[in-house]
Amino acid sequence: MIERISSPIKTKEIIEKNNFYFKKNFGQNFLVDSNILDNIISAANITKDDFVLEIGPGIGSLTQYLAESAGKVVAVEIDTNLIPILKETVGDYDNLEIINEDILKLDINALVAEKNNSKPIKVVANLPYYITTPIIMELLEKKVNVESITVMVQREVAARMQASAGTKDYGALSIAVQFYSDAKTDFIVPPSCFMPRPNVDSAVITLTLLGKKKVETIDQDFMFHIVKCAFGQRRKTLMNTLNNLGKLNLSKEEITEAITSIGISEKIRGEALTIEQFALLSDELYRRSKK
Ligand code: SAM
Repeated sequence: MIERISSPIKTKEIIEKNNFYFKKNFGQNFLVDSNILDNIISAANITKDDFVLEIGPGIGSLTQYLAESAGKVVAVEIDTNLIPILKETVGDYDNLEIINEDILKLDINALVAEKNNSKPIKVVANLPYYITTPIIMELLEKKVNVESITVMVQREVAARMQASAGTKDYGALSIAVQFYSDAKTDFIVPPSCFMPRPNVDSAVITLTLLGKKKVETIDQDFMFHIVKCAFGQRRKTLMNTLNNLGKLNLSKEEITEAITSIGISEKIRGEALTIEQFALLSDELYRRSKK
């Protein structure tokens, strides 16, 4: 059997041999539990037919499992100090390509076009926590050709992704995740499975992108503009938020009319609206602003 990079002894050895220092600002908490890695591969249902994009390979703990299960893996790592280490730990896998780049600056659509002929990919990652929301929003909203996203996130972020209207966890992330995908928490991961240990529990969550949307709307970008504004000022009434939105070009009366036409009170806060209500409202506002 091939030696696992993820064993605590091996990880420590690699770190010390290379004089590597963990960078907190890059969210570097490496996985040191082989059961968890096996479970991530099962949750993502990786087969040799899959093209996988890994975000943040670290020293290659998850990368090794992915390269052994998938057809092709592209791993994007921001930390230049990790590139020579990855060459040593996983450089022998000929179905693996490592790119030294900030994933938030990379044109993922262009990458998928170039490396996988724009065919659907799977995203699998133990995400650095500070980029969880922007990267998930980007993958969903930029309409990258993704089949599924299986990621380790903070447990409370997994809860936010699945939150219902009116709860404290509900926000723009919940709406984007539930609008574009079916979300399922696969399992919870305690701090002891990482080196160094984070302060909070983590969760692996899989988002399976929907072929056909559950909720229809005239213009998705317009709807998400309304959603983000509503949650940007979540203590204000929806009426006040929309009234301050320059882009709308509608009078207070027209906004009130749009809100009440879908059967809700003008005094309601945005956080109380379901995704279906956001879609109905944004369609009403869209039609009125195009008149
Ligand atoms: N996959 C490894 C594992 O499971 O042990 C490492 C996971 S660690 C939580 C996050 C990794 O993402 C680190 O290697 C970090 O350097 C990298 N990273 C942080 N920000 C990044 C970014 N913007 N783009 C690409 N990689 C990033």
